[in-house]
Order: sequence, then C-alpha cells, then structure tokens
Amino acid sequence: MLLSRFSALILLCITTLLAGCRSDEWRHTEIVPIQPGATIHLRVAHAVNDRLPRMTPEQLTTLLDAAQRTALEHFGVHLKFSTVTETTVDAVLALIPPKVRQARMNEIYDFKSGKGDRKRLAESILVTLQERKTKLADALAYARPYLPATISPKSLQEFSVILAEVMLEGLNDWRSIQAIDGKPVLDDTPRNEWVYWDTVGYGELPYDLVITNQLVASAEYTAVEVHTAIRGGLTTGTTTFSRTSPSGSFVFWSTFPFTDSSPLSHALRGDEDYNTTQAAALSGAYLAHEIGHMLFKFGHPFGQNKCVMNPASMLHYRTWQQQLDAQRCRIGSIPEMQVGAIPEIYNENWLRMALGH
Ligand SMILES: [Zn+2]
Repeated sequence: MLLSRFSALILLCITTLLAGCRSDEWRHTEIVPIQPGATIHLRVAHAVNDRLPRMTPEQLTTLLDAAQRTALEHFGVHLKFSTVTETTVDAVLALIPPKVRQARMNEIYDFKSGKGDRKRLAESILVTLQERKTKLADALAYARPYLPATISPKSLQEFSVILAEVMLEGLNDWRSIQAIDGKPVLDDTPRNEWVYWDTVGYGELPYDLVITNQLVASAEYTAVEVHTAIRGGLTTGTTTFSRTSPSGSFVFWSTFPFTDSSPLSHALRGDEDYNTTQAAALSGAYLAHEIGHMLFKFGHPFGQNKCVMNPASMLHYRTWQQQLDAQRCRIGSIPEMQVGAIPEIYNENWLRMALGH
C-alpha cells in the first residue's frame, strides 16, 4: 500500500473545520542511514485472529526466509528476525492510545452500519489523486481492466466518484466471505479497519513487523489509493509510524490475501490459488516491498516491473515476483528508489496525546 500520511496531511487540512487539524502538526521522522551490507535486526510478532485461517510456524519461517532473500538481493542488507512472538490481533490493537484512537475515528467510513458518506469518500479519493499529481489517462490505463467496461470519466472528479463506487461494491463482496466459524470474516469488531492498524505505532508497540492473518479491508476518508480502491479497500500491508522502532516506522502485514481461497480472492489473484509453501514464499517476497519503505523510505516506481517497490497489480503476487530483476533496479537508480523518497511522517499532536502530555 502506498504510504499514506502525505495525503492525510492535505486531506485533514482541507477538512480543517471537520477534523480540527492543522498542517503544522505533521513532522518527519529522521532518515537513519544504512550502509551496504548492514545487518538489520527486526522484532517480529504474529498477531492471530482465531476466527481465520493462519500460517503455521513452518510457513512463517518460509515467509521470513523469502523476505530475507529478497531484501538482500534488492537492497543489499541482511535482515535478522527475532523469534516470532505469538500474540492476538486484539492485543496489538489494544496498544492504541485511546485518545489517539478517538482523534482518528472520524477518518473511518462506516460501511458496516451504512452510515458512510459516499460523497465525502469520493472527495477524499480526489484529494489523493490530485496530491499524487495523477493524470487521468494514466490512472485509467492502470485501473481500466478492473472497472466496468462502460465507464468513461472526463475528469479526475468523475473518476473519483467511480472509484468510490467500485471500492464500496468490493467491500460489500468482502463482507460475503465467511470465517472458520461460518460467520462473516468482517464482523462487528474494528479488526479489519486500516485506520486502527495505522495507529498502533503511536502506542508502545514492541515490534517492527507485525504479521497477521487478519483481513484488513475498509474504507477511509483519508489516503485511498487507486490500487486499494479497485481491490475493494483491501490492504496487504502498510508501513507506518512507530515511536518505538529504530527506523521510525513499523510494518503490519496481512497473510490473508495469500492464503484465502474464496472465489473473490481467487479471482483477484488472476484465477489462481497458491499452495501453502507458495503462499508463504510469495508473501515473504512481497513483504520486502514494505521493508523497502521501512528501512529506506523508498517510493513507488509504478509500472517498473523489475522493482520490488512497484506495487503488485490486484493480488497478482506471482506475476509481480516473476518480473523482478534486482540488477535493473538498483538503489538510487531512479527517483523512487532514492533513500528518503517518502519520509515517514507523524502527527505531533497524536504523539503528544500518546505520551500523555
Ligand atoms: Zn508500497
């Protein structure tokens, strides 16, 4: 997923009256220089929701091995992972400082109760498109295969309305998926809400990497990207602020899109499923994408298929991996692969709330 805080900053400033936010609340974390060949130690947790299928310890080992290999090949660093701490999704989300959670609640589009504001969602998508300096033709070329054939938006504004509709329809599809207990995966809890996961790092999070079997699918009035919208609000992983992490960021990483065998996920993967080993290995390889955000603050070289930092199309992880070529996407070779291309930012007020000042 695209790093989000820049959009958050602009959106919150535009909606100042609603959110009460000011742009001067945002700060960059420091870029920590990393030497070629460095060894990086990362603290890892596996946050489990018992209602959903989970990866076995063997799969987690395969996943982390693949992340290690991919990071070494593409970024030239040696990742050393801690022993994986087994915890629960609820325990991780409980680390969010209550005041910060409260401050961010109005970013969540409430699709469960039907009280979400479609117009505001479309407007927030437009803000993100404009902030990214998106060209309508480029965005359409990227998204066209996944949108209704009849659409022909004449402006980014029209395109935003379509994306909001597609996103909400997709979210509705995710609601039809059942958990092990036969009830919907997306239940009444906020476990699926991206805003919650994106806020955990304001608490005392003792991990740099949180792997979870949770389906993270939701809609926000903040930083909705084209590729997230067309997947029905599904997030594979995000790199976001963490006050306890040496890099200033932590990663949350969902294995659900790799392991889920529902017809919906099957279709989004390009009509294929992965066996247990493939799911773990592909998940680990793609996790290196977030490691690139976390350690080096790389951006997104969209369409540069040889780069780990190019986001996968839909859930086509295998195709994504097959196209990688580390020799043709070196650090510093293109603007998005410059160290610090997208620094981590955080909200100073939220941090102050978290620290109880
Ligand atoms: Zn990314």
